Amino acid sequence: MQNNFIMSNDKKYNFSELVDIAEFEEILISFYKATGIPNALVGKDGKIIFQTGWIDACALFHRANIETNSRCLESNYALMENVSNGKVSSAYCKNGLIDYATPIVIEDQILATLFLGQVLNEAPNIKFFQNQAQEFNYDETEYLKAIKSVPIISKEKMKSNMDCVVRMAQILAKNGLAKLRESELSNDLHKSTKEKIQLKDILDFSPVGISWSDINGDIEYVNHKFIELFGYTLDDIPTIETWYKKAYSDLRYQKDEIKSWHRDILLSGKINKPIHISEREVTINCKDGSERRVLVNISWLGEKCLANFNDITEHWKSELRNRTHDSMLEMVAKDSSLSDILHTIVKNIELEDSASLCSILLLDKEGKKLLLGASPSLPDFYNNAINGTTIGLGVGSCGTAAFLASRVIVEDITTHEYWKPYKGLALKAGLISCWSEPIISSIGNVLGTFAIYHKEKKSPTSNDIERITFAANLAAIAIENRNARKELEHRAYSDYLTGLSNRRYFIEQAELELSRYNRYSGELSLLMFDIDFFKKINDTYGHNIGDLVLQKIADISRMILRDIDILGRIGGEEFAVLLPETNLEDSIKVAERMRIEILNAKLVLDKKRIVYFTASFGVVAANNNSTIDDLLIKADKALYKAKNAGRNRVCTY
Ligand code: GH3
Ligand code: MG
Ligand code: MG
Repeated sequence: MQNNFIMSNDKKYNFSELVDIAEFEEILISFYKATGIPNALVGKDGKIIFQTGWIDACALFHRANIETNSRCLESNYALMENVSNGKVSSAYCKNGLIDYATPIVIEDQILATLFLGQVLNEAPNIKFFQNQAQEFNYDETEYLKAIKSVPIISKEKMKSNMDCVVRMAQILAKNGLAKLRESELSNDLHKSTKEKIQLKDILDFSPVGISWSDINGDIEYVNHKFIELFGYTLDDIPTIETWYKKAYSDLRYQKDEIKSWHRDILLSGKINKPIHISEREVTINCKDGSERRVLVNISWLGEKCLANFNDITEHWKSELRNRTHDSMLEMVAKDSSLSDILHTIVKNIELEDSASLCSILLLDKEGKKLLLGASPSLPDFYNNAINGTTIGLGVGSCGTAAFLASRVIVEDITTHEYWKPYKGLALKAGLISCWSEPIISSIGNVLGTFAIYHKEKKSPTSNDIERITFAANLAAIAIENRNARKELEHRAYSDYLTGLSNRRYFIEQAELELSRYNRYSGELSLLMFDIDFFKKINDTYGHNIGDLVLQKIADISRMILRDIDILGRIGGEEFAVLLPETNLEDSIKVAERMRIEILNAKLVLDKKRIVYFTASFGVVAANNNSTIDDLLIKADKALYKAKNAGRNRVCTY
């Protein structure tokens, strides 16, 4: 069954029917003024539609002489012959000048031919033109003057000039054709309404995609909107079977969902229910590889199975984004792990385009390296290779985007210089394009990157750009929230001056360790130390210097102690350390090392002022009945002993 809209393509048109000639001529007059190149438009009947500009050599000499005029015409015919074969051509006329011609073609039809010239491609051969002046009795001085005023334009430039003007003509003609068809179609409809309304004409105006098939599954008709939506014409999908194969590329979905749906539809047709409506929301793969979300309605009209396709892609996408946004916020509110939240964002963003593979990388604290955030669809070997990459210019799309703090679009990884060092890796993972958006915090710091990969060359549409920025914004909220929480926790547990655990957190950790010791027995000791004559340091050098001494002592302690030791600043200049798996003897050794390290340390303020300091230590070993309070009291007593014995020493309880 043919469709009227497509049939109307066969009609032939003239350039002057499609384009406002007077306006087009104005454009070419401007073109002549700008370039000095005369031009002419010739209809497909060979008649000149208009002509702009003359060069004196032609107007005053070649065309004025019978013999040279016939040479002009000869070269015109030669050009026309080539042009009618659909070629862009140029011709030397025997008079020594050059003409260019190109057909204006749309939908394989030549509408008219554009001539540019005469011109010269290089400086004129004066000898040749002198001879010509003598042969045809021209006034040599005037003739050579005319020849020297012919524009000299290289072949390449002439081709570009041609290309520019012809393309413009083609665009104008295409627009004209679309308008003409529209009005023809509405005229046709008008006419046929008077006679008899053609059902298919009406269907072609429908904003809904429509198709119908017969009882055997042969598709008989698709309307104009259907072709516009999906790109498939009847030739692409002669049967329901071929339609399903193309429209639902996900084989499992095709097998599990669509086939049984189809069976039900066929069945309802066979039992001849007069009208049965079955509605479904599905994602269709279009001919150009894109996807559309549509609401499909199927109904039987007698022997014909009629399908309506309502395009809800935009609505669906915005719904998806709302849902992604909501579930992300919900997860943040529920304090889900950052990794889970980022995973959810990636999975949701991938839903919008099932050919896309998304990944989130996080920038480390130093702002140097990218670490895996969420990348569930990329192969492990790829993720592992990317994890820990140092950012920089030319470090793939993400490394560069994080480095520049701006979006990086790479349509073809195989040729892009940013990907040179990683091309092999990407190809092994089958990745061909990668667009990366930096994830930026509310104060403008780069937190990481959000990337969309495809397994084919691909440049983003405006919708893709919206999608990638949306995703990066969501990720920014999640990451910033996690950072804020960490910061709060840190503030609650640690001492701002030294970064050590504060008294409360020290006791909390120490209690955990003590209960472990009580369960498994073993050895455990506690030591406490206090800076000697610290008041004097404050009084002599000021409180700020006192603070530096506290920091120095915290650094020394961190350096000497093991990771499993629990260290805290439990008072102004009092520290405590719980030493797991350490008996009294060994903890005295530890205290002794610390004492000596502190004794040898100094703070150089300037050449004259150097601050030295010491500390006194009290040590106690735990037993089965020990509590933390008990241990702290005993260690404090030992410390008091050390102070009384002259300070800068270690005493036991
Ligand atoms: P001793 O050898 O007996 O321990 O003598 P001391 O001077 O160290 O005596 P004490 O322990 O009583 O003094 C503690 C001083 O530490 C008092 C207080 O001003 C100072 N201090 C407490 N917290 C801080 C702090 O955060 N920064 C500074 N600069 N000084 C502090
Ligand atoms: Mg003290
Ligand atoms: Mg003190």
